[in-house]
Amino acid sequence: MAKYIFVTGGVTSSLGKGIIAASLAKLLQARGFRVTIQKFDPYINVDPGTLNPYEHGECYVTEDGAETDLDLGHYERFLSIFTSQANNVTTGRIYQTVINKEREGAFLGKTVQVVPHITDEIKRRMLLLGKDGKYDIVITEIGGTVGDIESLPFIEAVRQLQWELPEEDVVVVHLTLIPYLRAAKELKTKPTQHSVKMLSETGVHPDIIVCRTEEPLSNDIKRKIALFCNVKQEAVIEAMDASTIYEVPLLMLREKLDIICMKKLNITNAKEPELEKWKGFLDKLKYPKSKVTVGLIGKYVELQDAYKSILESFIHAGAVNEVKVQVVNVHSEFITKDNVSEKLEGLDGLLVAPGFGHRGIEGKIIAVQYARENGLPFFGICLGMQMAVIEFGRNVLGLADAHSTEMDASTSNAVINMMEEQKKIKLMGGTMRLGTYPCEIKEGTLAYEIYGSTHISERHRHRYEFNNSYLEQFENAGLVASGLNPDSGLVEIMEIPAHPFFIGVQYHPELKSTVERPAPLFVGFIGAAKKYNEKRVSQKSVALQTELI
Ligand code: GLN
Repeated sequence: MAKYIFVTGGVTSSLGKGIIAASLAKLLQARGFRVTIQKFDPYINVDPGTLNPYEHGECYVTEDGAETDLDLGHYERFLSIFTSQANNVTTGRIYQTVINKEREGAFLGKTVQVVPHITDEIKRRMLLLGKDGKYDIVITEIGGTVGDIESLPFIEAVRQLQWELPEEDVVVVHLTLIPYLRAAKELKTKPTQHSVKMLSETGVHPDIIVCRTEEPLSNDIKRKIALFCNVKQEAVIEAMDASTIYEVPLLMLREKLDIICMKKLNITNAKEPELEKWKGFLDKLKYPKSKVTVGLIGKYVELQDAYKSILESFIHAGAVNEVKVQVVNVHSEFITKDNVSEKLEGLDGLLVAPGFGHRGIEGKIIAVQYARENGLPFFGICLGMQMAVIEFGRNVLGLADAHSTEMDASTSNAVINMMEEQKKIKLMGGTMRLGTYPCEIKEGTLAYEIYGSTHISERHRHRYEFNNSYLEQFENAGLVASGLNPDSGLVEIMEIPAHPFFIGVQYHPELKSTVERPAPLFVGFIGAAKKYNEKRVSQKSVALQTELI
């Protein structure tokens, strides 16, 4: 049976529980254990698929097509393992299961209650991933902040498990904040004391307290926290702000978070952590040789979390190319034909982001046209690929009303159309084409050069597709399908061979990029941006020299 680590959070939200959980998981994995992480979210939505990115950031899609919390993205990026539907559970999903069982009569006339029925279902799911011998350690991150009404049943389930499981099989890690009062030049432990007290009142006693702090914690402060919070001083862990999230595993290693956990779990057979690959990546990330600037065109660009996986993929691909990737957010709603060259000035590449609905799409189309006509590296993801198709249809094929039926149901040139199997679906949640599908790549194409393979599989989240009745027309004019789904014939990749780097994909390559396995398309795109930048810089210096002469 697996061992279980629970991570709770106190004082405020946004302390980076997901990163601490992922970092601890990384260290334990580096020590030779098979580790997975799951997240339990207190909200009532069955999954985050129907949530607006403004509400909850990006919706992360797993191999099996689950629409999940963006923290699962961190787990995969850190661990290079696949997560699944089982790794993300919400209050909504718990209640849905219990209510369905009640309707089936499974409770045999009993009154169905939060304790024990809801907590039993929570516990069942908390233990699930550790049941089949696949993992040595299961880390569970509890969303929300201790003291919230809605996370109480999750905390109660942890309390019960702390008693029901053997003592050496459970660790509770509580993450808190130690604020620094600048005026008093002092770190304050009171919020942490209160938060641990609140957790203890629910019956859960934390074994380890991880303290987010801007300033180092002195031994005195650690002693004080230990004293008031009933933990050993060695179990008070300092989590200083880091320059990048990828540094946190090393900070936690220095603070011995993994060793303290293993001690409580009575694990004695751990090897020294193997982190060479990770450190190599960090070195390249911290000491880049040059810089490229790419534009991210989307409609949620002011909210960093909305494009989390894309931004992280840029970081992975930047390290491979030994460049710093500076991302310029360009709001698609404000791009017009008149200002496009000004808005995209100084960019070495353009990524048109995924999205839904018609807001901001004309700006995206104008940006694609600019990239196509000016040889600027272009990378379109999902809606971004669809915009490239529409742009090409309108401006190259002369189909003036080329459109997607998502935005214009009555267009006479529906170059992007709703997929057949989507047409009869009425419900919104979990009904898109989701998860991993195979794609066959044609040899001799840019896609083949990038992937180095004819068979790949990537993750999807969409309802619309390229309308194959236009394929011949597009290919004859120079936008070709270089990747197709072998079973359905759906177009997965389109590219312009005559352009230095112009590629659009119907799937989401950003969802499979990890530190140890960066997404090939991002690596290729940043490589192309680097080349473009070198040319741009040398042209600029020639121009400058000519001016000086
Ligand atoms: N809205 C488009 C579709 O449903 C694109 C989706 C996306 O970019 N993820 O097909």
